[in-house]
Amino acid sequence: MSECIFCKIVNKEIPSDIVYEDENVLAFKDLNPVAPTHILFIPKKHIPTLLDLDSETQHLVGEIHRAVVYVAKELGLEKGFRLVGNCNEHGGQEVFHIHYHLLAGRELQWPPG
Ligand code: 5GP
Ligand code: ZN
Repeated sequence: MSECIFCKIVNKEIPSDIVYEDENVLAFKDLNPVAPTHILFIPKKHIPTLLDLDSETQHLVGEIHRAVVYVAKELGLEKGFRLVGNCNEHGGQEVFHIHYHLLAGRELQWPPG
């Protein structure tokens, strides 16, 4: 059985507030939101980091973007949002299962810290 927290969320072994699901993609609310809307988009398949994508799995990034656009429109985020993918130590990645943060609901600063 996987020890990965996001695999456990995919397998419904631990609860999450799911906002979107299809065959390959799951989206759920972040446990510690840093914006009024903070949703995580993940491939259901366990892939540790963006650097581990290959020709077999790179289509999942496109599928995640399709899901992001669908959810953003459903939630009425026309004012804008930010989509962030943290990779490895310098990117600030803490959970090693690819995920993108959808942040919205306030004006976000740039550049990030
Ligand atoms: P990272 O720093 O790896 O890009 O972001 C990991 C994110 O996962 C953090 O924003 C953190 O709040 C979120 N997170 C960690 N554990 C859980 C969990 O069990 N459930 C949910 N919904 N979010 C989690
Ligand atoms: Zn995983």
